Amino acid sequence: MRTKNDWITILENCNKVVQKKIPPLLQKVAEPPVDYGIGAGGDLIKKVDLEAETAIVNTLKKAKVSCTIISEETGTIKIGKTPEENYVILDPIDGSTNFTRGIPFYATSIAVSKNQTLDGVHTALVSDLIHNITYTAIKKQGAYKNNEKITPSKIKSFEKATIGVDLNTDQPKTLKSLAKLLIKIPHLRHFGANALELCYVADGTIDAFIDIRGKLRTTDLAAAFLILKESNATIMTLKGDPLTEKMAPTEKIAFVAAGNSQIFSQIVKELSN
Ligand SMILES: [Mg+2]
Repeated sequence: MRTKNDWITILENCNKVVQKKIPPLLQKVAEPPVDYGIGAGGDLIKKVDLEAETAIVNTLKKAKVSCTIISEETGTIKIGKTPEENYVILDPIDGSTNFTRGIPFYATSIAVSKNQTLDGVHTALVSDLIHNITYTAIKKQGAYKNNEKITPSKIKSFEKATIGVDLNTDQPKTLKSLAKLLIKIPHLRHFGANALELCYVADGTIDAFIDIRGKLRTTDLAAAFLILKESNATIMTLKGDPLTEKMAPTEKIAFVAAGNSQIFSQIVKELSN
């Protein structure tokens, strides 16, 4: 049976392979003329997603692990003799639109869990593919950015806060409840890769991140979830409950992540008003 420390080495090897594979594909993105329509972008991202996924699956096979891989592109892949021993949750490219438009903010996200719940995640890696920054976490051993321990923001009041909010294809109902909060946020941000933005909450780059659309998949969040928890940041539902959704591409999630409980409470209070 693999230990959590074995797993982090395996994830770091996966990361190395992806970092080698992605740059040549980036040049293709820059080649003119590029049709940025849904078709072209969709095809390109599919190609990159598949290449990154294949590279990761092959690295896992080489490491001779037994696991069930849950990925966006291919769905479920079982490898080894006892695939139910570990679940590897994979998002080869988080921030696909950024990737196809040449916006330098996207990441690879890999989480390992002992079961199909978020709480079962014990090892995680989110790799910023542009800036050579890798976030990692092992359950009960803290969260790290390029091997340096990270802690979230200590800013406790709204007046100074920088807060990320995902409003993409939001419904009028949630937009309405967010409106009062949005006008109070002095520095509002959304960079377009939610796993990476959650890591920004974990290391205090931003103070909170809100996504209450109910559209993000649990599989997109799995790795960042552990990184956040291990950094001591807060991530919960709007009601202040823990996230207990099953990890499957069909499961969607709504949440507030914050650097500390004071910021979390203020956001929830504003949203419930
Ligand atoms: Mg993706």
